[in-house]
Amino acid sequence: MTNKVGELQVSSILEAAKEYGTPTYLYDESTIIQKCKNIKAMPNAFGFEPRFAMKANSNRAVLQLIANQGINIDASSFNEVRRAKAAGIALDRIMYTTQEVVGGADRAEFEQFLLDGLKYNVCSKLQFELVADFLAENNIKVSLRVHPGVGSGESASRNTGDKYSCFGIHLTDLENVLAFAEDKGIIINAVHVHIGSGGDPAAWRDNIDRELGFVEKYFPNAEHVSFGGGFKVARMPGESEADIQELGAYAKQRIEDFYERTGRKLKMEIEPGTYYVANCGYLLTRVMDLKQTGKDGFEFILLDGGMEVNTRPLLYGSEHPFYMVSSEGELLSDEFDLTKFDPEADQRIIVGRCCESGDSQALDEQAHIVPRVMAEPKIGDYVVIGGAGAYCSTMTPFNYNSHVQAPEVLVREDGSCKLVRKKQIPEDVYKNEFSLD
Ligand SMILES: *Cc1c(COP(=O)(O)O)cnc(C)c1O
Repeated sequence: MTNKVGELQVSSILEAAKEYGTPTYLYDESTIIQKCKNIKAMPNAFGFEPRFAMKANSNRAVLQLIANQGINIDASSFNEVRRAKAAGIALDRIMYTTQEVVGGADRAEFEQFLLDGLKYNVCSKLQFELVADFLAENNIKVSLRVHPGVGSGESASRNTGDKYSCFGIHLTDLENVLAFAEDKGIIINAVHVHIGSGGDPAAWRDNIDRELGFVEKYFPNAEHVSFGGGFKVARMPGESEADIQELGAYAKQRIEDFYERTGRKLKMEIEPGTYYVANCGYLLTRVMDLKQTGKDGFEFILLDGGMEVNTRPLLYGSEHPFYMVSSEGELLSDEFDLTKFDPEADQRIIVGRCCESGDSQALDEQAHIVPRVMAEPKIGDYVVIGGAGAYCSTMTPFNYNSHVQAPEVLVREDGSCKLVRKKQIPEDVYKNEFSLD
């Protein structure tokens, strides 16, 4: 076996554990840079603007790293816009695509941001009505998110295009909304569809055809077309990653066909999240305890981080690879090479420290725990959970059981560790509360 855990050197893992403790999120800088390069190399016909859907991983250093590669930002809440701006990213590099209706206290700041170049992807009739006069007065063009009536999701809860989801303005409302825009004199210069995080290349190709169809039919002023995100990544052995060069080639061809038909040159936009960061992330945990449940039962490995640092297995039945490293730095098992283990005898169950029977890092879609093959650890050994860079740190119920939010560490290209978010202290968990009297 090599002395690497995925793309990380074991020495970086030991350094992070020593300096910052466990559980800790580790992000591999080289992987992020490589993914940005892959995206930028996608074929395109008349220009290309890739963005990063920052809800996948919103750490300031990660945003800066990605922005420095020339990738712009897609923000899905007003606080995400603020967060990207606070990271030093110019407002004209941020697209705001949201379910929120910005009002009240945020309204003045929102208007200022629009004047300063923030791009707005209008996602509902009400959103549009409330901002229309301001847009018209200031000659601000907007993007429109269209609900295509069809979607794709790795699970039902991640399909954002079917009738059970309400993202964007449904096709049946479109003529109405376009008449309203026309009446107000507002130019819609971009059209957007994100069908979900399915990653099915066929669904992505269908979406391109459908979307270009309604750009042609309904949007005479559109200069940009966004095909959304949702590129599949391979976290586990046997999975395959979306061929983004091939998807890019398809989009390019279709945009060229569109030009042949209409004489209009559309700039292509996309905003994946998962693709850039999923496989840069490793969750570093330590074995706290070992238990077993009798002759017909299982061996349990209790880690010092579970659902409160990575909720994806419990939420979706998502699978993540496990690596085990001894406290001295020996690689004991690697999900990608389990040949030396017995498929029956070496089955073990990984659980966390929360008071929830579903607090495991290996569950199926019905939230049943699934035993997995791995080495037999000792107390104090490390279990590293791969594929933990997207929707892990950003999406966890981290203060459940009053646990503190885990630190985040960027593993630099030279293997050194840089703290990019400190660990919470116990007081952080309750400091906003008030006593009875
Ligand atoms: C979340 C989101 C994305 C990114 O989805 P991934 O599956 O992470 O690529 C893209 N566009 C919009 C509008 C989103 O909300």
